[in-house]
Amino acid sequence: MFVCTAYGATASSSPLRPLQINRRDPGTSDVEIEILYCGVCHSDLHFARNEWQFTEYPAVPGHEIVGRVKRVGTLVNKYKPGDLVGVGCMVDSCRICPSCREGLEQYCNAGFAGQTYGGFEKVLQEPSKGGYAERIVVDQDFVLRIPDTLDPAAAAPLLCAGITLYSPLKHWGAGPGKKVGIIGLGGLGHMGVKLAHAMGAETALFTTSAGKAEDAKRLGASHVILSKDDAHMAAHAESFDLIIDTVSAAHDLAPYFNTLKREATMVQVGAPDRPLPFNVFPLLVKRRNFAGSIIGGIKETQEMLDFCGAHDIAADIELIRMDQINEAFERMLKSDVKFRFCIDMSTLKA
Ligand code: NAP
Ligand code: ZN
Ligand code: ZN
Repeated sequence: MFVCTAYGATASSSPLRPLQINRRDPGTSDVEIEILYCGVCHSDLHFARNEWQFTEYPAVPGHEIVGRVKRVGTLVNKYKPGDLVGVGCMVDSCRICPSCREGLEQYCNAGFAGQTYGGFEKVLQEPSKGGYAERIVVDQDFVLRIPDTLDPAAAAPLLCAGITLYSPLKHWGAGPGKKVGIIGLGGLGHMGVKLAHAMGAETALFTTSAGKAEDAKRLGASHVILSKDDAHMAAHAESFDLIIDTVSAAHDLAPYFNTLKREATMVQVGAPDRPLPFNVFPLLVKRRNFAGSIIGGIKETQEMLDFCGAHDIAADIELIRMDQINEAFERMLKSDVKFRFCIDMSTLKA
């Protein structure tokens, strides 16, 4: 075991601050990574503030990690010191259940113990701690390769925001001839617009922020629909093949259902802390589907990174110092970020 500096919360109401945390010494199949950048996901905020009510303190968020391999265990054959690598939302899974065998570790039948933070570190026998830290030690099977054509800081958000949109876009068939809507232009949503566009779909953004229209078009949206404008919503009625909802707060879903074609699907990836009550009639009358999706498996995450490398896609980031994280959380709550904060982890030591 070794000690490293991290940044985290000690209670739901306390700001994040420097902490000392334990990491396990790299085992035979482990990779020790010096963290260079970590994206700031809205889940980090939900978790640090115990909005999902399972946080154990001290809590260290961060699951959009990019870093350099420092040390590897004796049986590691996929990575070597100096490699640029990534770690997303998972650092382990049971590996033997049907979901894991299918490469769908995010749906592991044994549950969520393998989460990067908010899970359980089996070697140290303590809650797992995330990427707002100098270093992390991860089994090589949960480490991703970052394409060297991408800027490492802008690639970090791909590890959660990127895969969370890529997986349902692929699963529900986004591509040429399909009209795809993304709800919310935050960290997840802006990756959704870029990816759906790159997959060849006719892409639309639903937004509550009129001021984001120009950016959305630059990112690949052919339509920008103001979700609070009923006439604007009505103009797109029954036209979408697929909609992905990334909104982080409680909101009414029924107006979006009405924009789906018959039998089309809306997928919830946003994870508000409160239940979403909705009127079921728009689902009934057109045999529409309402589904959920969480991140993506390790194999699919590598596929997404390679797709992004080939298409030169990464996040639009605002690089921040570690000590700006509390201010960044407040700005994220006001949708005041273009479009993902990313922490320059070299500022942690300072
Ligand atoms: P974010 O950057 O804060 O973006 C959320 C966007 O939602 C905002 O930019 C805003 O877009 C819209 N929004 C916010 N409040 C709203 C409201 N009251 N009504 C309507 N729209 C609102 O957050 P994020 O990092 O993208 O994460 C979004 C959610 O996904 C979070 O709940 C997070 O925990 C969850 N998440 C889920 C997964 C998964 O695997 N399923 C993975 C990562 C994150 P506009 O200004 O354009 O309206
Ligand atoms: Zn996330
Ligand atoms: Zn499993």
